Amino acid sequence: MVKFSKEKVLESAEELVKFVNGSPSPYHAVDQCIQRLDASGFQRLDERHSWELAKGGKYYLTRNDSTIFAFAVGKKFVTGNGVSMVGAHTDSPCFKLKPKSKQESEGCLLVGTQCYGGGIWHTWFDRDLGAAGQVIVETEEGKYESKLFRIDDPILRVPNICIHLNRTMNDNHSVNKETQTPAVLATKCIDEEMNEFVNSDENTAAGKHHGAFIERICSVLSCKPEQIIDFDICLADTQPAAIGGVHKEFIFSPRLDNLFNAYTSLQALINSCVDQKSLDDETNIRMIALYDNEEVGSQSAQGAGSAVTEWVLRRICQCFGGAFEQTIANSYLLSVDQAHAVHPNYAAKHENNHKPQLHKGIVIKTNANQRYATTAITGSIIRLIAKKCGVPLQDVVVRNDSTCGSTIGPIMSAKLGVRTLDMGGPMLSMHSIREQCCTTSVQQGVTLFHAFFEEFPGIDRDLSAN
Ligand SMILES: [Zn+2]
Repeated sequence: MVKFSKEKVLESAEELVKFVNGSPSPYHAVDQCIQRLDASGFQRLDERHSWELAKGGKYYLTRNDSTIFAFAVGKKFVTGNGVSMVGAHTDSPCFKLKPKSKQESEGCLLVGTQCYGGGIWHTWFDRDLGAAGQVIVETEEGKYESKLFRIDDPILRVPNICIHLNRTMNDNHSVNKETQTPAVLATKCIDEEMNEFVNSDENTAAGKHHGAFIERICSVLSCKPEQIIDFDICLADTQPAAIGGVHKEFIFSPRLDNLFNAYTSLQALINSCVDQKSLDDETNIRMIALYDNEEVGSQSAQGAGSAVTEWVLRRICQCFGGAFEQTIANSYLLSVDQAHAVHPNYAAKHENNHKPQLHKGIVIKTNANQRYATTAITGSIIRLIAKKCGVPLQDVVVRNDSTCGSTIGPIMSAKLGVRTLDMGGPMLSMHSIREQCCTTSVQQGVTLFHAFFEEFPGIDRDLSAN
């Protein structure tokens, strides 16, 4: 077993922390990927134009600015060869602004929110919230642009009711997702003194939201309210991710599900291409696909349930002689999404023989009822690769009397007919506003996914089953 140095483990963990802090929304996560891919010599493709791809070339493309595909073509790739693919997601549960967010109650200006995904919503109460997302803006030249928008100041808060008015509040953490989730932006009395901008025309974006909020967007984007056409805005905790624990062994952070795997797969792809010789000998295409909308079922044009993956793969195949179906048969999808580590205070929730622990390795997820796509064949392949690169693995299966999560693995394996395995790093507090994982798993993930890119074609050639 390779023992990673403490320095290397901490360095990787700090890189993940930077990535998460740069990604308060899926749009920002994709932008973080783009910055790193640009710096590593990947070229941008546009789905709306024709593609000319070269063996040894490195490319990326985006969908809705919230989903990204990046891939490197092996110099020895020939028609029908496979794609070694790692899939993850860019979105996390959060509050998103309603299309008309302007609300008022008891002298307070409130922002109406939609609950996106299956968050632990009570953890969003009493947090200092900023906002981030995508804004479509009309430019001075009469064109339309999608812009990233981000406010890190704590401009919003969803306050708890005080315990004196709800004595049973500690017995359950129930939240009314409609009536209790609007976020306080300001008091009306102060807003009337401070805010000169008022627009009551409900046909404009500026008329649907509080003036003070729109003013903040305009000052960040240097635009006028009437230039804002539409937006998708997430609320986000303003407390940055941090390394924690008495031995600096944990990462306390928002959105580890699933920015952990977005980051580790991205870094693995980039690292695998640093040494040109690695691509010179490569017979496959190495790809990462990071999708939006996993937390709400993946059924969107930019989600893993979309036809977009098939189209991207078909177009790549066309550039190298076709044979899409043969390429699929030679391909493998590592579907990576975070896994539940055993919880020290709730150990009985876990199956007795399957209690993945922090620091003990990346977790292979299996479910006989196909909530996860792992098979004996796909499991064998990743176990062989993990052995080669010295990354420890753990196994998880849920109790038969427990509900089970799911992810993009089963959706994509059914849609594409591609061999798939589900795995992810062990973590606690999944879907809380602030989650927890261990520092070692970052280095383990980067190392394992890097080894997957380099080792999969060779191992697959030695395998007589598919
Ligand atoms: Zn997830």
